Amino acid sequence: MPYDLLLKGGTVVDPSQGLNASRDVAIENGRIAAIEPSISTEDAKHTVDVSGRYVTPGLVDLHVHAYWGSTYWGIDVDPVAARTGVITSVDAGSAGAYNWRGFRRFHVERVKSRLVAYLNISSIGLTHQTYEHANLYYDDVDLAVQTAAENRDVIVGIKVRLDHNTIGHNGIVPMDRARAAADALGLPVMVHIGVAPPPLQEIIARMRPGDVLTHCFTGHTNRIIDKDEKIRDDVKRAWDAGIILDVGHGAGSFSYPVAEAMVRQGLLPDCISTDIHVASIRGPMYDMPTTLSKFLNLGMSVYEVVERATINPARAIHRADSLGSLEVGREADVAVLELVEGDFEFKDVDLVARRGTKRLYCRLAIKGGQILDPEEDGLPL
Ligand SMILES: [Zn+2]
Repeated sequence: MPYDLLLKGGTVVDPSQGLNASRDVAIENGRIAAIEPSISTEDAKHTVDVSGRYVTPGLVDLHVHAYWGSTYWGIDVDPVAARTGVITSVDAGSAGAYNWRGFRRFHVERVKSRLVAYLNISSIGLTHQTYEHANLYYDDVDLAVQTAAENRDVIVGIKVRLDHNTIGHNGIVPMDRARAAADALGLPVMVHIGVAPPPLQEIIARMRPGDVLTHCFTGHTNRIIDKDEKIRDDVKRAWDAGIILDVGHGAGSFSYPVAEAMVRQGLLPDCISTDIHVASIRGPMYDMPTTLSKFLNLGMSVYEVVERATINPARAIHRADSLGSLEVGREADVAVLELVEGDFEFKDVDLVARRGTKRLYCRLAIKGGQILDPEEDGLPL
């Protein structure tokens, strides 16, 4: 019985299995059927030559805005998936309880790639650009708990954006509401940080192991390093205890000076996510391969960046049993990446530029054994 598809001659980088070696990958019935040093082309109906390329689990982007048409930030993730290898997008709270059903029906259930989501503690989600917590009636704990409890197949946690222009005059209260909902559900909170208030110490004090701190390399006032460029004590303690540091690059949340200070101290983020949305997709963030390339040029290895865009985010959303791995028997979500050497310029959100010699490109994106077509039109931006 021949395999449906054979990816031949590549280097498999799958940190979930500690794998970083030349391997052929065979796919059958939408699942990973074999990973071997050599599999004959005669055993496969179709073979793709991926020599000189990396074969990784389908990338998992922990911070995406995928509610096209009904929220300020939303994009259509399918064209992005085909082009970038991000097979699983984790929506970071675009929908709240009031507009959840439209998100589920018209996006989660219709995309060709994969979509799961954090539910915003604000019932209006990110309908508007900001101020989703300015009216505390929207931060309805009972309604969020009910919605998440009815959608556990898709909802992986509770999102709260804590920023001077999201909270209105409500200080830390939205965090307390998110905490209450998440605790009632036994799910983690993803917390967005940026400009105080609320101050970072009040936010960190309310985070628990397994919660995600996104925008961890923000250059705004709530930055995680102090004036001596050392990681703050409270952040370090919470990190050691098990909170997850996630990049969430976006249009306002990746500062080269902060990222460089952290990497210099050997402090690498747990997850590298894009925060892709209408205002970051055209740069300076662009997409996942570009974001991973920035970290390669900061000194991280291909293995280290792939780990932070596959199994680590899969663990953060408690989906490591189904996502972020090429283990035999898994659904075949695969990215084929090429590392190109050259002279490249990258910019952070303040347009601080750095030159680099390495850039990753996605050459093939596969979901459940099916190759996604990068030429297919998506919804307009
Ligand atoms: Zn975001």
